[in-house]
Amino acid sequence: MDVDVIVVGAGPVGLMLAGELALAGVRPLVLEKYPRRREVAKAGGLGGRILELLDHRGLLDRCEAACTGPIPAPRFPFGGVHVDLSRWDDTPMHALPLPQARLERLLEERAGELGVEVRRGHEVIAVRQDDTSVTVDVRGPDGDRRLVARYLAGCDGARSRVREQAGVAFPGVTYQEVNRLAQVALPETVVIRDDGGIEVPGADVIRAGFTQTETGLFGLGPADDSRIVSLFTTEDETTEYDDDTAMTVTEVRDSVRRVLGVDLPLGEATRLSRFTFHARHADRYRAGRVVLAGDAAHLFPATGVAINAGMLDAVGLAWRLAAEIHGHAPAGLLDTYDDERRLANARTLLHTRAQVALRRGRDAAADALRELFQELLQDEPASRRVGALLAGADVRYPVPDADRHECAGTFVSDRVLPTGEGRSRVAASMRAARPVLVDLADRGDLREAASAWRDRVDVVTARTGERVADAVLIRPDSYVAWAAPVGEPAERAVPALRGALTTWFGDPGDAV
Ligand SMILES: Cc1cc2nc3c(=O)[nH]c(=O)nc-3n(C[C@H](O)[C@H](O)[C@H](O)COP(=O)(O)OP(=O)(O)OC[C@H]3O[C@@H](n4cnc5c(N)ncnc54)[C@H](O)[C@@H]3O)c2cc1C
Repeated sequence: MDVDVIVVGAGPVGLMLAGELALAGVRPLVLEKYPRRREVAKAGGLGGRILELLDHRGLLDRCEAACTGPIPAPRFPFGGVHVDLSRWDDTPMHALPLPQARLERLLEERAGELGVEVRRGHEVIAVRQDDTSVTVDVRGPDGDRRLVARYLAGCDGARSRVREQAGVAFPGVTYQEVNRLAQVALPETVVIRDDGGIEVPGADVIRAGFTQTETGLFGLGPADDSRIVSLFTTEDETTEYDDDTAMTVTEVRDSVRRVLGVDLPLGEATRLSRFTFHARHADRYRAGRVVLAGDAAHLFPATGVAINAGMLDAVGLAWRLAAEIHGHAPAGLLDTYDDERRLANARTLLHTRAQVALRRGRDAAADALRELFQELLQDEPASRRVGALLAGADVRYPVPDADRHECAGTFVSDRVLPTGEGRSRVAASMRAARPVLVDLADRGDLREAASAWRDRVDVVTARTGERVADAVLIRPDSYVAWAAPVGEPAERAVPALRGALTTWFGDPGDAV
């Protein structure tokens, strides 16, 4: 065996997975076909639940320091309308202006600090597996070689060779349209109005927001102090562009002319990207010893959600894979990765497909649907719900015994807890990506029960009067595996805790 885990692909998902595996005590090998990191304009920002998880790992400060500007107000496009979450104090979704290339650099640096080797210029050509190992043929700068691993993670993007070699189907559709997104300065000849619309000499006013025409969709976002606006177009088009063929300002201007019939003068661009939407979902995330994550497993037909989903896959996969490698994974643990992330990603597919239906309609009925939807999004519950969907935060994982406590299967958001030594943040307890039992009610019985797992489960003791549970067992991905209802007697709580510890973290070790 050359290595325990091979991760194919050094995109955001592969790099996140590699870092998480290293935290869990597994040294993965990352194989990446491109010899150098590419600066292709892909995602312009990072948002959703993954930001909370990065905070738990102590990485959010680094991400914020790498941003290209201040954190924008939480307003997001949703299928041709907008959801404005800036009205709520605790917005369910926000995003950082952290371009994908910077995110990848940061994740690679972090993986390097944890001892991960990223082998660039190494393309995986073929994959075979048997009951005990996976063999990959790799083409590298020094020729072809064969590597053997216990597990292989395909984080190799939309056209995943790993997925294809593992025989996993990728059903769905590709929309015959091209989307263009530009952040570009408007010259002084264009008047920017107080209502966000713009006046172009010799043309009608172009209003802010989305405009549907016979030839496509046009979107105009608000201007900043430097007269930079966001422009968006969608046109029916079957051209297959290569990610490496950079878009130009002229291409945007031509597209605006085709969609709006207006020759919009444009200055310098700070961001230019072009993309096609697909709605596809791998029919399984695991085929024996091969697992899939990120774009290799799912493609969503809307912006702003894919990296969040993919990096959350990586976090959900890493601790389970590590448990398999360390030999204490309970039977079926790796399959729960598929159960949970498929459920979460199906929700993302649901709302992004709904966005396609909202966005693509070009008749009066579709206009009416958008207007009505926009109206509904003024209501707090509706906008919060859509915000949670965008953040990938509306899912409760189907953990066993979920009906014992409402927290079971939910994500643990950060909060400050009073402890014996002062105060501690929940987030700080999750830094090492180990399971944690948080005792909130000085429950010696539960701490004693968990001590048999102390080689792999940490215990934090806090005291708080305002608690929803006496104790919470948190998995490394920050989801609650189990919780003890307030005041639950030892004869019920202790066996239940032992059961949950065994279900998620295997039989107890010799650590008693
Ligand atoms: C123009 C554009 C704009 C986007 N905007 C957003 C956005 O705003 N928000 C958002 O969340 N997402 C956005 N996305 C989507 C986002 O870029 C992807 O979801 C993300 O890159 C997926 O990450 P990944 O790690 O799964 O795959 P990738 O980033 O595709 O990484 C896969 C890696 O695997 C490598 N690889 C492939 N095959 C092999 C092989 N056989 N051997 C070795 N290495 C291999 C590739 O070279 C690549 O480095 C955008 C995409 C595009 C194209």
